[in-house]
Amino acid sequence: MTSHVEAQIQARIIAAEKKRQQQRQQRAELDANRQAGLAARKTAKAKRLYCATCARRQYRGTYHRCPLGCGVAVCRKNPHCGNTHLKQCDNRPEAS
Ligand SMILES: [Zn+2]
Ligand SMILES: [Zn+2]
Repeated sequence: MTSHVEAQIQARIIAAEKKRQQQRQQRAELDANRQAGLAARKTAKAKRLYCATCARRQYRGTYHRCPLGCGVAVCRKNPHCGNTHLKQCDNRPEAS
């Protein structure tokens, strides 16, 4: 015959096991999310643009592409960045 106390202990053990199981699953899900997040961040980082002159991070609409077609970005707000880059650009016309 199972005593009341034993039944309670048994229930607690089952509850604890269930909780552990849930935590394990949660951890696995969090881990999967983190992996996905890291992969996304890595891709985003590879696509990041920096001003060729001041190296400031560029976002959509904050930069110009080099007008000489070398492909770099320069700050849109700061004409100095573009002007400085033009003097250093690989595609600049030969100075004569
Ligand atoms: Zn800049
Ligand atoms: Zn350029």
